[in-house]
Amino acid sequence: MKLLFEHKIATLDSYLFAGFMQRVGVAALPATPAGRTITVNDAHAKLGHCSKALARKAAQYYDWKLMRGGMPPCEECATGKGRQKDVVKDSDHIPSEVMGERFYIDIASIKRENSEDTGYSKMFWLLAVDEYSHMKFLWFLSRKSELSGVLRDFVKKCKGHNINIK
Ligand SMILES: [Zn+2]
Repeated sequence: MKLLFEHKIATLDSYLFAGFMQRVGVAALPATPAGRTITVNDAHAKLGHCSKALARKAAQYYDWKLMRGGMPPCEECATGKGRQKDVVKDSDHIPSEVMGERFYIDIASIKRENSEDTGYSKMFWLLAVDEYSHMKFLWFLSRKSELSGVLRDFVKKCKGHNINIK
């Protein structure tokens, strides 16, 4: 970007150089006439997502009447501040060395290709993976509420095979 101070203004004993600058990106400002009632969030957005305090000051300056009430979280600001969590690259996790000590479970819904009854009534599948052996166990469930009963039976069965799930 290049700034030009191309206007030479003579004073009594020197010169003053001035340039013309055009404001861009604040097109919404003139659209809100003085005396108009707007929300704090509207003022915040019109003023380039400034702080609540600055929005109130500016509203006073432009003679906007601000509606009473707080300023709910601004979606644009939240998106701007938001950041994906770092993926853990180093972990202190000690993998299990005992069969059945630690299981990972996941449940997913099964979507039918068409709504016609195919005679297949199960809607969810439940997967359990043993951390040590990587052995997988799979169940099909009609309802998610069946999960606790299925897992309870599974723990009992494992105990019968001398595999103690904690
Ligand atoms: Zn904002």
